[in-house]
Amino acid sequence: MVKKPFSMSFDLKTGNTEENKTTSRFLSNMKDMYMDVDKAEEMIKKEDVKVYDFTELGFDEVEQDLLYGTSIVYPGKVGNEYFMTKGHFHTKLDLAEVYYCLSGRGYMLMETPEGDWEAVLLEAGKAVYVPGRWAHRSINIGDEPLVTFFVFRADAGHDYGTIETKGYRKLIVEKDGKPEIIDNPKWK
Ligand code: MN
Repeated sequence: MVKKPFSMSFDLKTGNTEENKTTSRFLSNMKDMYMDVDKAEEMIKKEDVKVYDFTELGFDEVEQDLLYGTSIVYPGKVGNEYFMTKGHFHTKLDLAEVYYCLSGRGYMLMETPEGDWEAVLLEAGKAVYVPGRWAHRSINIGDEPLVTFFVFRADAGHDYGTIETKGYRKLIVEKDGKPEIIDNPKWK
C-alpha cells in the first residue's frame, strides 16, 4: 500500500492518542512472569489490575514500512517486583528498535540469547537503542505511568513465547526503597 505523509498526536504524560488502536495487558495476562505467582493470584482475586497499554498502527507488516506507537506501563508491584511489560524478542531477531521516554521513570531491561544483559535507565527525554538480537522489556520503578514512544521495522514481528517459556535472566525488584537487579530464580 502506498502511503501519503501523515501525522498524529501523543499525549506526553499519558501516551494516549486518538488515532491508534490500544491493547491492554492485565495482571491475569502475565501472572506467571512474576517471581511471586501466589502474590499475583491473590491480587487478581481482589482486582485484575491493568499493568500496561500499548498503541499500534494497523499497518501491514512489510519491510518497507515502520511501525510506531506508545507503551504505557502503570505504577505498581507484585510483592516487591515492579510492574513491567511481557518483553519480547523480534521474530526477525536481527531487527532493531528505538524507544524514546516521554514521561515516568523506569528501566529498559534487555538480554540476548547468548546471555548478555543490560538495564538502561528510562526517564523523560532519554532514547534507548535496542539493537537486533536483544529482547526488551520496560519496567516502571516510579509512581506515575512510564510512557515510551517506539519505532521499529514493520516486519520485525513479536516473539513473546521465548520469554514466556524461559523467563528473563534478570529481574528488577524494590529493596530498601530502591530498585535492585537480581537473578531470576525461575529462569530456565
Ligand atoms: Mn520490539
